Amino acid sequence: MAKMQGPGAYRYKLGDYQLTALFDGIWYLPIDGKFVHNASGAQVDEALTAAFLPPHILPISFTALLVNTGAKLILIDTGTAGQITDTAGVMLDNLKVAGIAPADIDMILISHFHPDHIDGIKTKDGAKVFPQAEIFVPEPEWAFWMDDANMGRHSGTVHRYFLNARRIFSDIAKEVHRFKPGAEVAPGIESIAAYGHTPGHTAFAIHSGGHSMLAMSDTVREPFLFVRYPQWQPSYDMDGPLAATTRSQMLDRAAADRMPVEAYHFPFPACGHIVKAASGFALEPAMWAPL
Ligand SMILES: [Zn+2]
Repeated sequence: MAKMQGPGAYRYKLGDYQLTALFDGIWYLPIDGKFVHNASGAQVDEALTAAFLPPHILPISFTALLVNTGAKLILIDTGTAGQITDTAGVMLDNLKVAGIAPADIDMILISHFHPDHIDGIKTKDGAKVFPQAEIFVPEPEWAFWMDDANMGRHSGTVHRYFLNARRIFSDIAKEVHRFKPGAEVAPGIESIAAYGHTPGHTAFAIHSGGHSMLAMSDTVREPFLFVRYPQWQPSYDMDGPLAATTRSQMLDRAAADRMPVEAYHFPFPACGHIVKAASGFALEPAMWAPL
């Protein structure tokens, strides 16, 4: 019997661009009845059971997205670097499977400063993993997390996120480009203010050759809970009501425009379409296809 899963690198086309989904792993996070502020533990367990998942455990899948424009290799978010759980941290192995070395990456786009999105920028020892990549982060995200007064107002897990943001960014601050959400941050890549999950949380729309895809970042996380019940407010959304409004609007846009979507915490390869359902929406996952 094999002890290892096969590789997780999946390529697909968007216009003239080639996208590669790079699997990083799954974190099986135990949750209690307080995980969703406006739904009971029993309702959350019911939604997990409906998706054939065990109760009280949230499977948090991680998939980074690589965009090859033909001229540049752009990585959107960077994986956990094995620093969050021992069942995640294989993104670099899958990058290698895709035939790409870390030094080949030209640009890194960051959606927000939660550790699972930025930890991959550095090794545990503080060395840069992508030595040639220029790093781009949302300006309001930088302003919130790098402010010492804000850090002083938070304790516990969120305080640790502030310290982690400093570990990643402090000594490279001068090299980090800060963009205003709404700006085109790379050829064909438009940033979209999607606040709520964090104060400066940003999604992206990727456009090429008349085709467009929404890279939703953490606007919509586990689909069996938050595509189905977009109004549910999980404890990891820092502003629950704002995040729920942002989420509903983005799902509405994706369904109305029949736009392909991608999201960091969707099941690998983390892409598909959104359709209206009796309650909320549903994810129609993409089908494995040859290039
Ligand atoms: Zn995340």
